[in-house]
Amino acid sequence: MISVAEAIQIVRLQTPVLKPEHVEIPNVLGRVLAQDIVADSDLPPFDRSQMDGYAVRAEDVRDAPVQLRIVGESAAGRGWHHKLEEGQAVRIMTGAPVPAGADSVQQVELAHELKDRTVVELLESVEPGRSIVKQGAEIKAGETVLTAGTTINAAMMAVLAAFGYARVDVSRRPRVGVLATGTELVSIDQKPGQDQIRDSNNYSIGAYAELAGAVVERLPLSGDETSLLKKQIMDGAERCDMIVTSGGVSMGVYDVTKSALKELDAEIFFERVALRPGKPTVFARLPNGTLVFGLPGNPVSVSVTFNLFARVALRAMQGATEPALKHETAVLARSAKGTMERESYLPAQLTTNDDGQLIAFPLKWGGSSDFVAFAVATALVIVPADVKSIEAGSLVSVVRLP
Ligand code: AMP
Ligand code: MG
Repeated sequence: MISVAEAIQIVRLQTPVLKPEHVEIPNVLGRVLAQDIVADSDLPPFDRSQMDGYAVRAEDVRDAPVQLRIVGESAAGRGWHHKLEEGQAVRIMTGAPVPAGADSVQQVELAHELKDRTVVELLESVEPGRSIVKQGAEIKAGETVLTAGTTINAAMMAVLAAFGYARVDVSRRPRVGVLATGTELVSIDQKPGQDQIRDSNNYSIGAYAELAGAVVERLPLSGDETSLLKKQIMDGAERCDMIVTSGGVSMGVYDVTKSALKELDAEIFFERVALRPGKPTVFARLPNGTLVFGLPGNPVSVSVTFNLFARVALRAMQGATEPALKHETAVLARSAKGTMERESYLPAQLTTNDDGQLIAFPLKWGGSSDFVAFAVATALVIVPADVKSIEAGSLVSVVRLP
């Protein structure tokens, strides 16, 4: 049995990066950059006033209060492009260019205009440089401001826009087919009959896949029959970069996912991971290149294994710099039990205490079928293999759930 870390390594190794596409910026939120973004101009592009007030020479107002002659006005988008001389002031607005000759801006609250607005009295002195952001102080033209592999967030949209990237190269969104196996399953718009349950896995998997940047296709429910499952996998594989199945990977008579994959000549990279919950997770590739994750059926196992493995492949396909969930350290608020020979990933809620330290509260849950308890989890606490239990107050590794 391989460890979680080894399984993640294999997933990264076997996952190809998808070809990028050129997309208009309103549509790139959440996408992964496939190019570096380089500033085409200084920021600010000129010495910029941070305040409404008066552009002056600091030495002219050293002995404030003083009166200076107003010689012009500089507004955002309409600057005053002459040289300011001794004894002069220019009325200036926030965002406007500071005229040559001026070295500081005194704010409007510390001044008042006199004599038909031709003179300003400045009530206090001002140190050189005050309320001015110098040209290029934030970014210099030619600097790389975002690198390939970065996931574009809302704030980065402004960065793209400011430097004129109307279209950018981002990786294509992977297409994921979700396929639930199990004779007991009915679709969510049906009332389950005797011995039946509604399929819920396709909805958590689909949602997690979307959070990972994928486009999701729901494949029809599959029973527990190898030939039908093979047909549905092959049908989905025609359009999908990845298929995620749930159920049918344990050791029961009706656990047909692996036999279907084998009969389809899939290359199976692993089929058991030293993990609780989620030991029987399968990772394979079909002859046409479509990746397949065969997740266990229990809903909590589905969430854990999807995020540990399938998500990594989806992020890696998009060229994301850090495709795997990041490990963080937290203080355990309640003791947590481990498992022999397997690493445990236990549902927990994360909070931060007054000192800024992360605190993990493991949830009380009824095992890998208890998806209602799991629904409020925000993280997973990791208990290493063969550790019986970790005491409250200990430091533990955690991963946040997307
Ligand atoms: P299996 O791995 O197929 O043995 O399934 C393990 C457990 O998960 C069984 O109790 C199944 O009924 C349940 N299960 C399997 N697939 C789904 C699904 N799509 N939605 C909800 N529960 C499921
Ligand atoms: Mg089943």
